[in-house]
Amino acid sequence: MNELYDVIIIGAGPAGLTAAIYASRANLKTLVLEAEVNGGKLSKTHQIENYPGIASISGLELAMQLSEHGQKFGAKLMSGTVDKIIESDGYKTVLLADGQEYHTKTVIVASGTKERMLDLPHAGEYTGKGISYCAVCDGFFYRNKKVAIIGGGNSALEEALYLASLASEVTIIIRRDVFRAEASIVDKVRANEKIRIITRHIPDELVIDSGRIAGVKIRNVDTGEIRTVECSGIFPYIGADPCTSFLDPSVLDSNGYIIVNPDMSTSIKGIYAAGDCIVKDLRQVVTACNDGAIAASSISRYLKK
Ligand code: NAP
Repeated sequence: MNELYDVIIIGAGPAGLTAAIYASRANLKTLVLEAEVNGGKLSKTHQIENYPGIASISGLELAMQLSEHGQKFGAKLMSGTVDKIIESDGYKTVLLADGQEYHTKTVIVASGTKERMLDLPHAGEYTGKGISYCAVCDGFFYRNKKVAIIGGGNSALEEALYLASLASEVTIIIRRDVFRAEASIVDKVRANEKIRIITRHIPDELVIDSGRIAGVKIRNVDTGEIRTVECSGIFPYIGADPCTSFLDPSVLDSNGYIIVNPDMSTSIKGIYAAGDCIVKDLRQVVTACNDGAIAASSISRYLKK
């Protein structure tokens, strides 16, 4: 067996990076594996205003600070997509999609969630060409243009506020009368003159003109009536699903979220979980950090036994 880690943390979002800080400060040999971008979803978030002690910070800035902090005490950070975790001789082997494998005594799964894709004909073809899941990354291309946002959760509304600073008009389309987002963000959205809100509608069809997105047809959920929202860009923020397909189904609930005990352990010995991918009520940066700290501290105690 090559190198043996005390803990491998899967995911370098706020939960994984906080776990890395706590684990490495407890002198655990720690490896963090990240499939996409360090900082996770945080790095695609325009502004964070509810992280205690920091009244306002860009998501990318906080992600970068967390990433640096996560490595400050010796944790190693590498990119890699986990395919499977297998038990071998009392240790765990983490297999990556590219065939590499790493050995560890324990694992913290902090793999977060992946945004749901817009389920309309041709949506895949136009992703990156008029349909975007990252306002912070792509908003620039829609300066002085009209954009539509699908969904009414925190992500949709926060990014609507960001896009309103660039686009000429932002239309938010929600399927109910009420938003899912927290009240303070809803108030800001309602007060923004560039944002209009269409309730009780769902997307029905993309409007394409000369190979470009020209709008989206939306359907009234009560009457079935169709109307068109003209826009050059569509930003779907219709929720997210947990990235847990590499885990044994016995640790998951029916929606794929990981079931944890208060110490963040799962039903499999030595496997812990933290952050947005676990069963919980409140998915925020601060609660992800909380989970990561608990998971790493619990592992430190577990390894001492
Ligand atoms: P979310 O809270 O699940 O909201 C998804 C939105 O999309 C809802 O308005 C939902 O409508 C709508 N929707 C879902 N499926 C749809 C469909 N097929 N067609 C049209 N609309 C659809 O997702 P999120 O905003 O991505 O947030 C995910 C989690 O991260 C949440 O727990 C959130 O609180 C957290 N988060 C927190 C922050 C922060 O605190 N700063 C920022 C971003 C995210 P219904 O309401 O009718 O179901």
